[in-house]
Amino acid sequence: MKPTVLIARPIPSEVEDYIASHCTILKSSTNEAMPRKEMLRLLAAAEGLLTTGGKIDEELLKHAPLLKVVSNISVGYNNMDLTAMKARGVIGTNTPEVLDETVADLVFSLILGAARRTAELDQYVKQGKWKQGDDESLFGLDVHHATLGIIGLGRIGEAIARRAKLGFLMNVQYYNRNRKIDAETNLGVIYQPMNELLRTSDFILLMTPLTEETTHLIGKEQFSLMKSSAIFINASRGKTVDETALIEALQNKQIYAAGLDVYDREPVDIDNPLLQMSNVLALPHIGSATAKTRTDMAFLAAKNLVSAVLGQTPPNPLS
Ligand code: NAP
Repeated sequence: MKPTVLIARPIPSEVEDYIASHCTILKSSTNEAMPRKEMLRLLAAAEGLLTTGGKIDEELLKHAPLLKVVSNISVGYNNMDLTAMKARGVIGTNTPEVLDETVADLVFSLILGAARRTAELDQYVKQGKWKQGDDESLFGLDVHHATLGIIGLGRIGEAIARRAKLGFLMNVQYYNRNRKIDAETNLGVIYQPMNELLRTSDFILLMTPLTEETTHLIGKEQFSLMKSSAIFINASRGKTVDETALIEALQNKQIYAAGLDVYDREPVDIDNPLLQMSNVLALPHIGSATAKTRTDMAFLAAKNLVSAVLGQTPPNPLS
């Protein structure tokens, strides 16, 4: 008999076909992510769960007595309580590498867009405000030859650093808990203690996973160290930043601008002051969202799911 798996969000049909050739599928009848209540009910019969970002906690695990694996269609896995899962013998998996270049592209669009104010100026043109003459109030900041400080130089961080070094001739510095000598040698990136990186970077990019240690890694004190011309970019997770401190830093002109793909609460509240600021470029957590990359991620997540329910070691187990 085939093992039963629960697919909690829509996936490309070819990926679903692959899973169906090995497993019996339970899934939502609509084209939406499955509501948690329905998930908890269906999990009673499931050995595997395919999801994106839904909370995997003690309550969910109690409803899933047969569960062997939770396969995330994302590289971040801060939604999973790995300790609770381990205690019940449930493996977690994620989808690293297949999304690195796509997320790096998006981060670069945040860097360029925030520096050259492209979203703001798009509105300026479309609203008919463009008059003859060279209006200095529309000027932005240079990206080329500027200093980019990456906090969390991992797989995605390195893809961004490569673009910055080779494409934009930037000076790239980074802060991780551990130095990456390979990246220093191959990419020419320079290690800096965090406070030094904050003081000396023109662009500060946050790219760490969300963990207990990185929650509010950047707050009031860190913003106070940044240059008044600094542009802050966050494409990690919203809670790595103290959002109130970010709002204050922008309101007090402690920093020049921000480019954000992630927020404390998602979808971001329409009343969030960040959305009222012309120097904030705001995207809807869309780093990996191209059709090809999302399909590649779904395939990798499906392979993780299928191999684990068949009793094999999945390609990307989490520990
Ligand atoms: P990764 O390869 O694991 O890299 C993460 C880096 O962060 C590592 O080099 C790690 O180095 C560093 N780090 C971890 N904790 C740190 C800390 N306390 N202080 C400083 N550095 C720390 O991960 P990745 O694949 O590049 O992905 C990174 C994150 O990006 C994901 O976890 C996810 O949350 C986010 N992401 C967002 C999107 C989006 O759509 N916006 C898409 C994909 C990923 P050390 O261990 O040496 O400190």
